[in-house]
Amino acid sequence: MDVRTCPTCGSTKIKTIRGTITREYDGEKYSVSNVEYHECPDCGEKIYGREAVPEGCPWHLEAIS
Ligand SMILES: [Zn+2]
Repeated sequence: MDVRTCPTCGSTKIKTIRGTITREYDGEKYSVSNVEYHECPDCGEKIYGREAVPEGCPWHLEAIS
């Protein structure tokens, strides 16, 4: 996955980071560690591919492919 532009604010300062993503879903927190994702320093948006999120994780289907 190659992301150069933030889908939320259009910033081109997207950074690639490897780390842990934590998201809340249905009032519960789910973390996935050692994930490569993209972060926008301007608006804080995190962009990650579906392959980065294990199947069975509630927000697997929300991730972009
Ligand atoms: Zn942004």
